[in-house]
Amino acid sequence: MDKPFLHQLSYEEARDYFSRRDLVILPVGSVEQHGPANPLGTDMLIAQDLAREVASRSGIISLPVIPFGISFHHMGFPGTITVSEESLASYVLDVLRSLSRWGVKKVLVVNGHGGNLPTLQIVARKAMDELGIRVYIYQWWTSGSKMLAELFSEDERGHASGAETSLNMHLHPELVRTERLVDEEPKGSFEARVYRFAYTHEMSSSGVFGRQSSATRERGAALFEKLVQDLLDIVTELEGA
Ligand SMILES: [Zn+2]
Repeated sequence: MDKPFLHQLSYEEARDYFSRRDLVILPVGSVEQHGPANPLGTDMLIAQDLAREVASRSGIISLPVIPFGISFHHMGFPGTITVSEESLASYVLDVLRSLSRWGVKKVLVVNGHGGNLPTLQIVARKAMDELGIRVYIYQWWTSGSKMLAELFSEDERGHASGAETSLNMHLHPELVRTERLVDEEPKGSFEARVYRFAYTHEMSSSGVFGRQSSATRERGAALFEKLVQDLLDIVTELEGA
C-alpha cells in the first residue's frame, strides 16, 4: 500500500478502510538522549519506521507516531522532552476514543521506549474496560528479544548501545555521528532488588548503557527485517482474532 499512515488518507479512504478492518497500528516513542552519537528521536523514529514498514506490507493502517513519552529519567541531558504519565495516558486514551467511533476494536501499539510501558498498560486496561478496544503492546527489545539475542551480545542491548545504534545507522544514517560513538559500562542498572527511581546520568555519564562502537548498518538492517517479520506474524494473528 502506498499510503501506510492514516493522516495520508482522505476521509473517503478512511471510511472504506474502517468498513473492512477493525485493527490499526499505533507507534509511540520518546524524544530523549541516546548518547552523543544518536539522535534524540531514536525511539520515535524506530517505532515509526517499524510501523510504516509493517503497514506497507500488510495493508493495516498505522496512525502517525506519538513522539513524546515518559522520559523524566533522562532529563539530565539537553534536549530531552518528557510528558507526565497522566498526560500520555489521557492523550493516548483520547486517540483510542476517536478510533472507537470508527469501529476499531484492536490496536497494535509499537512502543519504542520502555519508560512508556507502565502507562501504556494502564491505557490498555482502560481501553478494554471503557471502550471495548483490545490494546496489544509490542516492544522490539522484549517481544523480539530472541531475535535480538541472535544478533547482539548482552552489552549491545542496553539503552543507546549497539542494537539501537545499528537500527539508526540502517534507518537514518545521516543522523548518526559515528565519530562520537561511545562505549560505557553503566554503574548499576534500572533493575534493582529494591525498586528506586534513578536518573540515567547517575549510572552513565555519556548516557550510553553498554557497547556502541560495534554498531553497523548491516546489523541494523538484519535486525529491522527480523522485527518486521515478527510484527507481520502478529498482525496476521490479530486479523484472525
Ligand atoms: Zn531508545
